[in-house]
Amino acid sequence: MAGEPDEARRHGTVGAVARDRDGNLAAATSTGGMTGKSPGRVGDSPTIGAGTFADNASCAVSATGHGEFFIRYCTASEIAARMRHAGHSLDKAAGAVIAELGAVGGSGGLIAIDRDGNIAAPFNCSGMYRGFAREDGILHTAIYDEPYQAQ
Ligand code: ASP
Repeated sequence: MAGEPDEARRHGTVGAVARDRDGNLAAATSTGGMTGKSPGRVGDSPTIGAGTFADNASCAVSATGHGEFFIRYCTASEIAARMRHAGHSLDKAAGAVIAELGAVGGSGGLIAIDRDGNIAAPFNCSGMYRGFAREDGILHTAIYDEPYQAQ
């Protein structure tokens, strides 16, 4: 939707992350790419480490936004690296990476879950359609609220 003033509404990507009862993590991202993209462009969604990443040792991440920035900064795997190497929590690592991306002009956000089941869904645009469910089956959804950290 070129010309759409709300950045959050320009993204048509669907992503999912999951943790099973044994602690295995998975991530998936599907997208039509960016509006007006060049023929043959490969975005961040199918690029492991950029828009999609999962590692049982740290977290699973699925991102949406301006893919060139997510590729350049290896966004998804950068969050996992900060958890592994710096001991950051998922919330701290994901929030910082998305804030840093925004500071250089990269609009977007992500959903993520860590090996302990902590969830983070930070974004630096005006909103991001998102939700989560746990064992109780209760669905939680949000669009424009502040990014949440669900335990
Ligand atoms: N990240 C996707 C891409 O750059 C687009 C999107 O998530 O809206 O291809």
